[in-house]
Amino acid sequence: MFSDSDPIAAIATPPGRGGIGVVRVSGADLAPVIAGLLGPQSGRMLQPRRATLARFLAADGTAIDEGIALLFAAPQSYTGETVLELQGHGGPMVLQLLLGRCLEAGRAIGLRLAQPGEFTRRAYLNERLDLAQAEAVADLIEASTAAAARSAGRSLTGEFSQRIGALVEATLELRMLVEATLDFPEEEIDFLQAADARGRLASIRGGLDDLLLRARQGAVLRQGLNVVLAGSPNVGKSSLLNALAGEEVAIVTPVAGTTRDRIVQPVAVHGILLNIVDTAGLRPTCDEIERLGIERTLAEVARADVVLHLVDATQPAADAEVLEQVRQRAGKGVPLLTVVNKIDLTGEAPQADAARITLSAKTGAGLDGLRSALLGVAGWNESTRGEDVFLARERHLQALAQAHEHLAVAAAQADAEHGYGNARLELFAEELRLAGERLGEITGEVTADDLLGRIFSRFCIGK
Ligand code: GDP
Repeated sequence: MFSDSDPIAAIATPPGRGGIGVVRVSGADLAPVIAGLLGPQSGRMLQPRRATLARFLAADGTAIDEGIALLFAAPQSYTGETVLELQGHGGPMVLQLLLGRCLEAGRAIGLRLAQPGEFTRRAYLNERLDLAQAEAVADLIEASTAAAARSAGRSLTGEFSQRIGALVEATLELRMLVEATLDFPEEEIDFLQAADARGRLASIRGGLDDLLLRARQGAVLRQGLNVVLAGSPNVGKSSLLNALAGEEVAIVTPVAGTTRDRIVQPVAVHGILLNIVDTAGLRPTCDEIERLGIERTLAEVARADVVLHLVDATQPAADAEVLEQVRQRAGKGVPLLTVVNKIDLTGEAPQADAARITLSAKTGAGLDGLRSALLGVAGWNESTRGEDVFLARERHLQALAQAHEHLAVAAAQADAEHGYGNARLELFAEELRLAGERLGEITGEVTADDLLGRIFSRFCIGK
């Protein structure tokens, strides 16, 4: 196990060639690295937070590169430790040489290569960021739509954490009131009224519900919505996919470790990432290979967040069997929208009501209706645009949902017809404590070590 007090170094810019490249070093005392790279006089030359043009020196005194050196004195730095940034030219070789030279010069202080996310882990450990903010750093880097980037940015500045903090605070306050009452048992009867415990609890629950709604929307923003196109062959699935993708294609970076053997087209609709899955056409068949393709389609249907069942407007009746198959395989509660394609051939007008959307992939008529319907399914409308949404992770959603449960139990205690004196208040207080604890996990007030390991190991090196 590496220690959180070792000085660390890494190349902070992505691999490849670019205008500049940055090597970042963080530790308690970086004097040997600074002297090694910038020369013995550099201590005087380098002022904290001042850009200094300097030669970056190899061990024999020759220059590896010339660039900007930036020193951030602890604790006013990203990690909260002393941080040195060397901004050189952005070539893979020169940056490797610079990094190697830093490690060499820092050998005496035990300088080592940083693990993925280790700079941000330190920022968290040194209380420069809370856990939700640290996660927002990774989410901002990974954001593939503008709305996702904006809401990660908001989490990073601490808006999400503040909302969580306010709920934790309110929960704690109410619990303190209850516990104070427990010390004076004769007042228990009046307590719930006198302290307006029910009113306070209701307001905490309202705040939590609101946060949960925004976080659920944020989760869609972060991960995208898996939309599966299913239907008979030739109804126009590929055409519809192309029509949707043609206008707004999302920028997607490959995620390590995911293998995909299906056609997934990422499409951004008003900033929401839709992962549209095109599948093999569904029809009764005896052909073994086609049957395997169909089985795979149905497996996709089972994984979908939304299923679009596509029908040909000129043969709407031909599809009952396919629809039945799709219905059976789609997950419980997963919306199934029927999309009638090729209305240019029937002369029908485009329409989009809850269960039936008519359009033409060829002319584009009705595509906007489909887009709005998909946003609606994701809990969004065009005016939401990610303004009030927090880019939540599964971990946050679970913690919020658990806190929600505990508060519901607390409310049931408060509303119980028959009181059992202190026992009832103790349960009430205990549920409040548990709710506060779950909320605290989000910002990292309460954490387990393995959780930290899991969160930071997914970062890129140098961040
Ligand atoms: P898939 O097998 O379901 O993927 O269907 P395709 O997208 O390959 O389309 C099958 C045929 O229908 C092609 O000849 C398309 O040009 C045609 N088609 C698709 N959408 C439309 C449409 O909206 N209007 C018309 N007139 N033809 C369409």
